[in-house]
Amino acid sequence: MTLLFWLLFCAFIGYSAGRKGRSRWAWGLAAFFLSPLIVGIVLALMPDGDGKKETRPAPSPGGNRDSGRREEKYCPECGYLADAGEQYCPRCGEMLW
Ligand SMILES: [Zn+2]
Repeated sequence: MTLLFWLLFCAFIGYSAGRKGRSRWAWGLAAFFLSPLIVGIVLALMPDGDGKKETRPAPSPGGNRDSGRREEKYCPECGYLADAGEQYCPRCGEMLW
């Protein structure tokens, strides 16, 4: 039964190595021949591969600030910033286009 656990550990380490962007077979074999415990600790301490697979969504500058912004337009007569829904300027009564 010990051998079965040993192999399970090796398989798990190979799987973990693959998830970190490293060679599954190399790590699995290393675990098999050395010790799954030691290799597992080494693997856990190692940083993730070169991160080619991981695509972190870069925070877009400006964000989604524009999405909640109202449509506005300037009154041609007095320059009042009126809501786009307004047909006439609330300040001077000029028709807004
Ligand atoms: Zn106006």
